Amino acid sequence: MSVLVFLEHHGSELQRGSLGVLSKAASLGHGEVAAVLVGGGVKALASEAGTFGAGKVFVAEDETLEPPLPQPRVDVLAKVVRDDGFDTVMFANSVLAADVAAGLAARIDAGLNWDLVDVESRDGALVGKRPALQDSVVVDVGWRSTPRLALFRAGSFDAAPTSAVEPQVEDVAVELEEHSRSAKVVSQEQESSSGPSIEDADVIVAGGRGLGAPENFTLAEELARALGGAVGATRAVVDAGWYPYAAQVGQTGKTVSPKLYVAVGISGAIQHKVGMQSSGTIVAINKDPHAPIFEFADLGVVGDLHSIVPKLTELVRSARG
Ligand SMILES: Cc1cc2nc3c(=O)[nH]c(=O)nc-3n(C[C@H](O)[C@H](O)[C@H](O)COP(=O)(O)OP(=O)(O)OC[C@H]3O[C@@H](n4cnc5c(N)ncnc54)[C@H](O)[C@@H]3O)c2cc1C
Repeated sequence: MSVLVFLEHHGSELQRGSLGVLSKAASLGHGEVAAVLVGGGVKALASEAGTFGAGKVFVAEDETLEPPLPQPRVDVLAKVVRDDGFDTVMFANSVLAADVAAGLAARIDAGLNWDLVDVESRDGALVGKRPALQDSVVVDVGWRSTPRLALFRAGSFDAAPTSAVEPQVEDVAVELEEHSRSAKVVSQEQESSSGPSIEDADVIVAGGRGLGAPENFTLAEELARALGGAVGATRAVVDAGWYPYAAQVGQTGKTVSPKLYVAVGISGAIQHKVGMQSSGTIVAINKDPHAPIFEFADLGVVGDLHSIVPKLTELVRSARG
């Protein structure tokens, strides 16, 4: 088996989700594991990829590749897969990676299994694990042909350094298709945030309509900061304009699986539940003892969030010194 992992970077930082997928690929212990980096000034990141298990890193470095557009990345990946004969390509889900994976599947006529939460090697065959029926069961999925493409749900794997071996670095000549040059990024806004994004966070504190007003999101933000986590939101508050869509968790938002998910003033509607129920530990704070969230929370606190959350934040701060 030869696995190629698409590594996504933001600025000079490799995304933990894709490093987690790389660690997982390396832990399968079969054949070659390589990574591909695409962008401007990305060569400097190759050695870090080695730490997470890449024996070889393909680098397509060019300033024209810096904007986060999928088609040029599809060109690069298709070339590496064809030239080097990789039989498996893995991605950590993100807006960009999902587009690249779908584009690559079409380009090289490969089967793509998406929304996977795990993968294993069984009797020499690769078997993916995918939640189904609103995450109530996990099914085995396979591929009928190679190359096999796999897109993993955010937070599926820990990014664990595996070795300190310096990877072999190979430059990829960038030859873009005509149509890959037709889209241009006109401008890019950087949302200011001090903590991790919800896709990368080990801890998410999510706020719902129970917060009562947009300014009360500071309660969730302060608790998230104390825990070193990110802030999530329900669709109800996103639709109301209380919090940005980027933070929405659920059926029409993001699917997350942090180690700890704290739901503050969230009822636990099924459309929210499907986006967070695979979290490690779920803590719910809600004044209604019959709120559906208590049916699947590991720990529940019944009471007014306005008095509970500030106290919890204080406790976390003092426990962390
Ligand atoms: C097609 C479709 C897609 C959807 N996609 C999504 C999605 O992606 N994500 C999503 O989240 N929703 C989604 N929804 C909406 C979903 O059905 C719910 O309406 C939404 O999740 C409810 O948000 P909420 O929990 O913030 O609000 P509510 O359901 O209004 O719950 C607020 C909770 O706060 C509690 N509360 C109130 N005051 C306090 C207080 N002072 N202290 C403690 N607790 C308090 C209440 O008891 C209540 O349980 C979707 C719906 C549809 C139809």
